[in-house]
Amino acid sequence: MFSHDIIIVGGGLAGLRAAIAAKSTDVAVISRVMPIRSHSVAAQGGINASLGSDDSWEKHAFDTVKGSDYLADQEAVEVLCKDAPLRVIEMEHWGTLFSRTHEGRIAQRPFGGAGFPRTCYAEDRTGHNLLHTMYEQALENDIMVYTEWMVTRLVVNNGRCYGVIGYNIATGEAAGFNAKAVIFATGGYGRIYKRSTNAIINTGSGISVAYRAGVPLQDMEFVQFHPTTLFGTNILITEGARGEGGIMKNKNGERFMERYSPHSLDLAPRDIVARAIRREINEGRGFDGGYVHLELMHLGAKIINERLPGIRQIAIDFADIDPVKEPIPVQPGQHYSMGGIAANSNCETAVQGFYACGECSCISVHGANRLGGNSLLETLVFGKIAGENAKKYALSSGSGDAVIMDRELKDEIERIRGLMQRKEGEPFHVIRDKLKTVLDEKAGVFRDEKNLEDAINEIIELEKRFSKVYVRNKNTIFNQELVNVIELEAMLDIAGCICAGAFNRMESRGSHFRTDYPLRDDANWLKHSLFTFSPQGPLVAYKPVSITLYQPRTREY
Ligand SMILES: Cc1cc2nc3c(=O)[nH]c(=O)nc-3n(C[C@H](O)[C@H](O)[C@H](O)COP(=O)(O)OP(=O)(O)OC[C@H]3O[C@@H](n4cnc5c(N)ncnc54)[C@H](O)[C@@H]3O)c2cc1C
Repeated sequence: MFSHDIIIVGGGLAGLRAAIAAKSTDVAVISRVMPIRSHSVAAQGGINASLGSDDSWEKHAFDTVKGSDYLADQEAVEVLCKDAPLRVIEMEHWGTLFSRTHEGRIAQRPFGGAGFPRTCYAEDRTGHNLLHTMYEQALENDIMVYTEWMVTRLVVNNGRCYGVIGYNIATGEAAGFNAKAVIFATGGYGRIYKRSTNAIINTGSGISVAYRAGVPLQDMEFVQFHPTTLFGTNILITEGARGEGGIMKNKNGERFMERYSPHSLDLAPRDIVARAIRREINEGRGFDGGYVHLELMHLGAKIINERLPGIRQIAIDFADIDPVKEPIPVQPGQHYSMGGIAANSNCETAVQGFYACGECSCISVHGANRLGGNSLLETLVFGKIAGENAKKYALSSGSGDAVIMDRELKDEIERIRGLMQRKEGEPFHVIRDKLKTVLDEKAGVFRDEKNLEDAINEIIELEKRFSKVYVRNKNTIFNQELVNVIELEAMLDIAGCICAGAFNRMESRGSHFRTDYPLRDDANWLKHSLFTFSPQGPLVAYKPVSITLYQPRTREY
């Protein structure tokens, strides 16, 4: 049994920022990969902050709320936007090498749905620069990290959190981590979809661990599809490419965004651009195979090499296309999880001593649609808040309970042994591949009642098949098959919530578009969804949206 005041699960930007904020207590981070391999490292386009003299936190907040299709909790958006300049400048002082203007200031580029060039960037490798800086700071602060440990259980008793159970991927042993407070910063679940920009490890296992411990999830039906992912591999082609002046065309050479968003054109928010591309493809104006063109050629080699070198390299390496000379083939793909573990702007959840921040949480600053550049920002702002609040809680109350922890550890060891000892059954990947296809086809950019109902039934069927899944590899050391099996259960949980939420929500808002209910319906649906675990499937309830700054209006771009 390990013991710390605070356990943080997740070594990405949110988890490490929380650890630094909580550092004067005995804090440890658990991560299933080396922290700098967390998905934060892949972020490309940049991070938002109102640094310009004619920009303000209010303008940033307005864009965020409008972008969210008025579902964001405005009190949390205020916290996010007010703190943004401080957090970005802090990263600069800690060592992040941001790109610069001619005057030497941090450069900012236009991004989708933003009324102002507000996205600070480090070429098109912003996440790489931020995460390496953050990890250096964690080393400087002597933060203890348990690497290659996967957390499979959150220990909760009588509404209070006592720690987590981890599975050591390197050795195959399970152990308890006793803690006064626990923070989850476990990232998103993109890989439950077939076409996704996310890292392979983004399977949402942390979100499901919290859900199974009784913590409600929120707004799971809102899944962000990024408009421009590379055709074939779905590697992200940053919105920054359009921010720098890239334009999209269909197979007839038309600049089709003129039809969908006459003012913002290619820089409309992601939900609108993703739908436009899908519609062009569905109506026969895409290229064979299902994609449109993103043209950067007119920007010239100098700008592309200076500001988008990563994009150029990705297109050359993975599609054999040089964007200096040819258009990039792009199509929408899953990109971000707006939903997640329900938490308030103090990062507190329904369970005492349990906090959530970063992409795994739904604090709800993004509502029904996140604006690009706001997620990196969220990890810093709410990572810090989660760390500070967990520290306060750990110092004032909270103590371990060895009896409860022992009991839960024994249960978990039995569960894993049960999986390993099964003599026959279906291999996990057949079930997983089917799940991904179901979600892509039935719970994607466009949704309707019939498809969602089918998806729900298919997921129930897959859950039955999962109960007989068979692990062929019986090794204990780095048994990735077992890890995949454990993750698959989480993926099924999350898929079930997404489809239940999407089926129930009879309106279109942000990323959730129902062809059978194409309009937003504030009278009935201006509310958050909440999902609670039950063995029969998710129980769905609703809660009001915090509207403190801007009343809902029609959303036009
Ligand atoms: C390709 C790409 C580009 C992006 N570009 C941008 C951008 O330009 N601007 C922007 O604002 N946002 C961007 N985003 C979104 C943004 O990068 C992420 O939302 C954000 O970095 C998430 O950070 P995080 O700390 O919450 O999670 P992550 O960085 O995903 O870290 C999750 C951590 O949790 C650990 N973990 C997970 N489950 C477990 C478990 N069960 N047990 C133990 N450890 C676990 C992992 O090991 C990892 O350390 C991009 C996303 C992608 C995929």
